[in-house]
Amino acid sequence: MTSESAAHTPALADDFLPGPVLLLGAPGVGKGTQAQSLMADYRIPQISTGDILRDNIARGTELGKAAKGLMDQGQLVPDEIVNDMVGARLTQPDVEHGYILDGYPRTLGQAEWLDAHLSSTAVERPGGEVLPLVAINIRVDEQELLRRITGRRICPVCKHIYNIYSKPPKREGVCDFDGSQLQHRSDDTEAAFTERMKAYNSLTAPVIEHYCRQGRFRDVDGDQPVEQVTAAIESALKELRQAGA
Ligand code: AMP
Repeated sequence: MTSESAAHTPALADDFLPGPVLLLGAPGVGKGTQAQSLMADYRIPQISTGDILRDNIARGTELGKAAKGLMDQGQLVPDEIVNDMVGARLTQPDVEHGYILDGYPRTLGQAEWLDAHLSSTAVERPGGEVLPLVAINIRVDEQELLRRITGRRICPVCKHIYNIYSKPPKREGVCDFDGSQLQHRSDDTEAAFTERMKAYNSLTAPVIEHYCRQGRFRDVDGDQPVEQVTAAIESALKELRQAGA
């Protein structure tokens, strides 16, 4: 952990239009946790392709059946499936002021599809100026990632994320907010983590390069308390938007 002491003060939203934000980073860096904080601070939705896929699995849809085996093995679901899911989600009216993409895009093919798709569906400032996508990459040491992954527990109802080592619920196995039984994701095992890291290093790392080259990108240190990571992300977002992104 670093000893940075910047406290997290909720940003707000009235004079700041976040626009489309990508949260990038390896499995377990805290994308979901940070997306939940940004969603609350900016009042924009989180779009998590992993959550949409898990929801399909829970509902037993054809899409869920097709995805489950791949997900349990730590492999990526084909681009066309996730692109279609994201395209459909971006037609909802709640994305008007911005949204947080969590866990998407994860391949260059997805990034290119998204870039093309966004040229037709844009978030605009009053006056018509289009807000381009900005990307934030959260970095955490690989050993710490494994601890976060194996300790992660999720509320299936409100989706709140816990960690049995660093952020346990008040009562073991039970959500603080709605009393639901917490779940351990079936792909949060050491074996699946190894595969997910392989997919990340070979397929997702080039996505970071892609956004870095476009100059709409910041790295954030994810190895600090959750509130400080949120503060660092929010200040990176402000910088990027002030710099014209
Ligand atoms: P996550 O919840 O983001 O950790 O995603 C869990 C799993 O869902 C991943 O390991 C993949 O199998 C699948 N998945 C989620 N998002 C994507 C994506 N953008 N592209 C391909 N597969 C995905």
